[in-house]
Amino acid sequence: MSLSEIRARLTAAELAAGRTPGSVTLIAVSKIQPDDRVHAVLTEGQRVFGENYVQEAAGKWPAFRAAFAGVQVHMIGPLQTNKAKQAVELFDAIHTLDRPSLAQKLASLAQQRGRCPDLFVQVNTGSEPQKAGVLPGDVDAFLRDCRALDLSPVGLMCIPPDGTDPIPHFRTLAQMAGQNGLSGLSMGMSSDFPAAVAEGATHIRVGSALFGARRSA
Ligand SMILES: *Cc1c(COP(=O)(O)O)cnc(C)c1O
Repeated sequence: MSLSEIRARLTAAELAAGRTPGSVTLIAVSKIQPDDRVHAVLTEGQRVFGENYVQEAAGKWPAFRAAFAGVQVHMIGPLQTNKAKQAVELFDAIHTLDRPSLAQKLASLAQQRGRCPDLFVQVNTGSEPQKAGVLPGDVDAFLRDCRALDLSPVGLMCIPPDGTDPIPHFRTLAQMAGQNGLSGLSMGMSSDFPAAVAEGATHIRVGSALFGARRSA
């Protein structure tokens, strides 16, 4: 689908949900996409992108940032603690804060630098053993621990289990965010973003629907 088709579908979903058009941020997930496709989407006016790998983002975005004003890059993949320093220099937001050791590292980097990317706490809403994210029952305590470290997460993020109805997961995430006074909700991907918008998503992460299939994952 073209960028304008995705944008039209997003606007329709916003209107259907009684939300203001333009209130949901479209994150174009450009991981493993050739530079010419990313360049084309930049030329069409898209400015917010998502990446999964620190190394790949480091190779790609400094040049694109130099060529296009107003670019924002969001880290949406798992973040190793030993890459945190590079990540805070590269990214405007990190959607995958998922454990105390990473919170501690980000807090100490924030103190040294006097600023920090926007942080979303990833929640493993399906309690899947192989998946990253704070378990639903641990979210309130984890957020308290973050705040005790002077980190102020802006929202929650989830990746619902494959092959299940995502809507209960979106609802759970929205409820947990509300309980904790967080306004950001990073949820919804190519296959389910209209449903996520209906459930209150503030950030949707759309890759394959926009760029076509990735060569590998
Ligand atoms: C790759 C990825 C996406 C994009 O997925 P599509 O199904 O291609 O839209 C969204 N969120 C995360 C965390 C991802 O890793």
